[in-house]
Amino acid sequence: MERFARAWGQAVHDASYVLLTRAEREAFFLDLSERLAQALTADPFDAVGGYRVGVDLANTAAIAPEGLGRTVTMLTTRLLSTLDLSGVVSRERLAALVEALTMGYTATLHDRTLDQQDSLRRADITARSEAERALRRSEERLRHAALHDALTGLPNRTQLSHWLSELRTDASAPGRFGLCLIGVDRVRAVNNSLGYAAGDRLLRAVAERLSQVPDAVACHLGGDEFALLIRGTTNAEDAAKLADRALVLLRAPFEVDGHELPVAASAGVVERAVGDGDPVDAIRAAAMALHWAKDDGRDRWRVFDDEQNARDVARYRLSAEMPGALARGEFALAYQPMVDLTTGAVVAVEGLARWAHPELGRLLPGRFIGLAEDSGFILPLGMHLLEQACRQAMQWQNVRPAAPVVSVNLAARQLCYPGLAAEVAAVLDRVGLPSHRLQLEITENDVMTAEGDAVRNLHALAGLGVRVVLDDFGTGYCGLAYLRSLPVHGIKVARPFVAGLDHHGATGRTDEAILTSLVHLGHTLDLSVTAEGIETSHQLDRLRAIGCDVGQGWLLGRPAPAGHLFTAT
Ligand code: C2E
Ligand code: CA
Ligand code: CA
Repeated sequence: MERFARAWGQAVHDASYVLLTRAEREAFFLDLSERLAQALTADPFDAVGGYRVGVDLANTAAIAPEGLGRTVTMLTTRLLSTLDLSGVVSRERLAALVEALTMGYTATLHDRTLDQQDSLRRADITARSEAERALRRSEERLRHAALHDALTGLPNRTQLSHWLSELRTDASAPGRFGLCLIGVDRVRAVNNSLGYAAGDRLLRAVAERLSQVPDAVACHLGGDEFALLIRGTTNAEDAAKLADRALVLLRAPFEVDGHELPVAASAGVVERAVGDGDPVDAIRAAAMALHWAKDDGRDRWRVFDDEQNARDVARYRLSAEMPGALARGEFALAYQPMVDLTTGAVVAVEGLARWAHPELGRLLPGRFIGLAEDSGFILPLGMHLLEQACRQAMQWQNVRPAAPVVSVNLAARQLCYPGLAAEVAAVLDRVGLPSHRLQLEITENDVMTAEGDAVRNLHALAGLGVRVVLDDFGTGYCGLAYLRSLPVHGIKVARPFVAGLDHHGATGRTDEAILTSLVHLGHTLDLSVTAEGIETSHQLDRLRAIGCDVGQGWLLGRPAPAGHLFTAT
């Protein structure tokens, strides 16, 4: 603390009009430092302590404006570390104290200018007005720094928020406004590959282009995020047009350090009446729309709409409810038979996830599996369902001599999870199910894009003796050579090909030809071929004729609770 106080005193010493002895100076600045330290941690917090320090600084040390600037630098760069404080709260408190100190200092100086007209008249008038001008300049600099981005010089988030809240209070403001938030892609890639200096230059160039968008004020909210504020729109189209313009401007490649950098951007747009909610909320809404634009594949803009937002919120809620639902046992599997097309025997059953939601009723996997994949919850959920399926298989094995294999769907995320094979082995062990009674279904697409861990997982699972089949086969293009290299036991031909068998004319014939070659392909590679989605007896007949091994579909049995499956036995 003493060291900090000494350094502070020294920093402003030559800007001081009054002559203090060294001991006086040290004691004075130590007192100020201690008061600031106390104010920083006081409960409740009150910035007025900072104001008083500012007053004393102006009265006692009578420092010139450059001294105030150095004081601000000292406090913002060194005080927290001197006190061993960190964290957002401390930083926010410090900022408030420094602001109050500046206000106390300038107010005192101003009062003194008025009060002490007489004594000041005796002083050198030009020096005084020079000092006042310097004070105003440094005030302006501080204000500018607080409201602008240091890198690009554009107005920052604080300034944008001020403007937005002013829209509501300013009677002369127009009735509507638009805000478009722009996310620039690949800035991080540029930082990583060409260095931060190149990234900074790129951002400055982006700022320059965005400043050219007419009728809008460009702001830089930080990092790769920019905004355009448009005052006086008439409808959402006005704002969307400007967003489009901005994206067009950014689409031309940037030239940085001799590199030509193609940059794409996405934009989220809001347009509303000034009185329609808190205008500052528009930033959040635009951020949401920006997120949608990125989700839609980037390089595009999206306009915020309440309905989509409500859907997002509902999805988010559903996602957040999953862990509780798992604990309450709301997830269960329905089982659908897979039938040998020559003998008619049920050789396997596929477990299909169902969520008995207390308010929304029974939910199909389309409503929640994707959400669980996004949140990562698919890992615990998937293992839970897998264990359920294995226990069910054990029960069937105990009552039926030729018990069916259980087939469980695996999500891409599970396939890439390094601990997958070990966890599957642990479940089999716990339940006591022989590994060949478990089959895992992985979609062809997931396998095609799989790398590293996923391929290792496939081999490890095959090593355990678990069967692996490729689901929805024929929708992606899994190279023949690649398929040969994978430890797979069968393919399940995608439903649309089976549906095509009922079409008359060329499409139907094409689908039948594709099915025929898929069956041959499967057999050549020694794989069993299953057709799913069989709904009509015509489809069933054609599949038998083609030589397909196994069939699954509503005609042969709908997904049903475990207890409904083998009612005959
Ligand atoms: P999938 O693996 O292709 O499952 C077959 C889907 O087709 C199931 O829909 C099933 O109910 C439906 N289906 C069966 N026969 C017929 C038919 O004759 N006609 C028609 N139109 N549809 C039929 P479901 O249960 O809605 O499952 C949808 C998808 O959700 C599944 O597609 C699978 O990819 C995924 N899924 C289901 N359960 C799980 C699970 O436990 N884990 C994971 N990761 N994914 C699952
Ligand atoms: Ca499946
Ligand atoms: Ca399928």
